[in-house]
Amino acid sequence: MTNLSTAEQIKASLGGQVRNMIIGGESVAAQCGETIDVRDPATGDVIAKIPAGKKEDVDRAVEAASQAFTSKAWRGLPPHKRGQLIWKLADLIEANLDELAMLETLDNGKPFAMSRAVDVKGAANAFRYYAGMTDKISGKTEDIPGFHAYTRKEPIGVVGQIVPWNFPIAMAAWKLAPALAAGCTLVLKPAELTPLTAIRLGELALEAGIPAGVVNIVTGYGQEAGQAIVEHPDIRKVAFTGSTAVGRHIAATAAKTNLKKVTLELGGKSPSIVFADADLKKTIPGVANSIFFNCGQVCVAGSRLFVEESIRDQVIEGVVEYAKQLKVLPGYDPDSQMGPLVSEQQLERVAQYLEVGKKEGAEVAVGGGRVGDKGYFLEPTVLINTRNDMTIMQEEIFGPVLCTSSFNDIEEVIAQANDTEYGLAASVWTKDISKAHKMSAAIEAGSVCVNCAGIQHMTMPFGGYKASGWGRENGEEGLEHYTETKSVLVKL
Ligand code: NAP
Ligand code: MG
Repeated sequence: MTNLSTAEQIKASLGGQVRNMIIGGESVAAQCGETIDVRDPATGDVIAKIPAGKKEDVDRAVEAASQAFTSKAWRGLPPHKRGQLIWKLADLIEANLDELAMLETLDNGKPFAMSRAVDVKGAANAFRYYAGMTDKISGKTEDIPGFHAYTRKEPIGVVGQIVPWNFPIAMAAWKLAPALAAGCTLVLKPAELTPLTAIRLGELALEAGIPAGVVNIVTGYGQEAGQAIVEHPDIRKVAFTGSTAVGRHIAATAAKTNLKKVTLELGGKSPSIVFADADLKKTIPGVANSIFFNCGQVCVAGSRLFVEESIRDQVIEGVVEYAKQLKVLPGYDPDSQMGPLVSEQQLERVAQYLEVGKKEGAEVAVGGGRVGDKGYFLEPTVLINTRNDMTIMQEEIFGPVLCTSSFNDIEEVIAQANDTEYGLAASVWTKDISKAHKMSAAIEAGSVCVNCAGIQHMTMPFGGYKASGWGRENGEEGLEHYTETKSVLVKL
């Protein structure tokens, strides 16, 4: 079947109808009966509706998760059995690869090939990685004279998880997998812009045999359903990915309510740093892809390019050429290399940043305009004459917009790269191994890629320095945030 016919088939099966949320193992509407339209960003057409979940729905989901947390069916399971269920969920994701990938493409806009290879396979990998950890969560014994002393690692309890719209199923999987591995139960809220794959994931979790009430998916607006999760007194931890502004608000709300634990994966303004000795054949497509991939809607997007002065023009011209050749088309078009932005609001936000940038003195080397008159497409854009004190060099644009700058020596570029409130990621392009390691140590960011960009692997902790977040996801560290440590001292 072609991409286009798969898209038509899935659109027809959605039929513009309501896709219910999953609470306590049941497919349910919002108690208020209200719904929210879900649009295809390539056309702006409504393809489905979702329940507008509110506080009362979150309450019901937390109640279901609380019961499941203490149930024999979940807490009574030996850890390796929990692992088998999580592994089974990964199998089901792969068995439904094309359906999930096309749902993601219709909902978010990204090219189908990327939905398949990155998002959906990435989601399956997250479950496989953490499935293998369920029976490796253990405490330690400590040698204290006169005592038998040991620590226990226990699941933290009911967790709330709030995810954004840029990698919907992958972000949901990064949240669900470690929580399930630790033995927690959860209430997850997808972004109201891209809820479809999270709902499907909730259905597949039940099909995999994960007991009812362990995985609850509540759809709705951030300010209603999201806020109710963050305020809920029975939720012990909130894991959030999204904007820095909402992240700050969540941390403050947790502090004002029950002091639930909070982990935050927030924005970024990641530098791509190119030295004159870099292999430009690989570097130019590498830095271009790191900003245009997923239409620039990536927290680790390489949105600030710093090039060593002697090769500045060559690199910028190369990236401009790359931008000109990118095929900007609906994600379900087999030729698509870059899809639309996720929403009209996001298109307007990015367009506004371009206006501000031009006012502040930036020049457009390529792009800057809308593509077509339907859907939310924007040309891949490269700006020149951008300086660190400009708004567009400091704030996260979250669109296919690259700011460019140059440097003369290593100390200068370290200072420029770190001159931001963010600290999520960076890429360094050089053949000089000393420079590579010196830069990797000097950059204040949670991830540094050398001669590559934006690579994430489940084994590697992911998260931000500074205003880019609190805590880490993935790897063993990702699991830590879903457990509490208990110290037990027995007097001998
Ligand atoms: P956002 O508001 O931070 O959305 C992220 C998630 O938080 C969504 O599920 C959202 O729900 C929810 N949310 C919003 N307000 C909430 C509240 N008061 N309490 C609890 N949850 C709440 O991000 P956005 O407005 O969609 O995007 C704005 C900018 O954020 C982007 O331009 C980009 O710069 C940044 N962003 C960063 C990432 C990232 O990966 N770091 C991802 C997305 C956006 P609803 O959307 O359903 O209302
Ligand atoms: Mg959508």
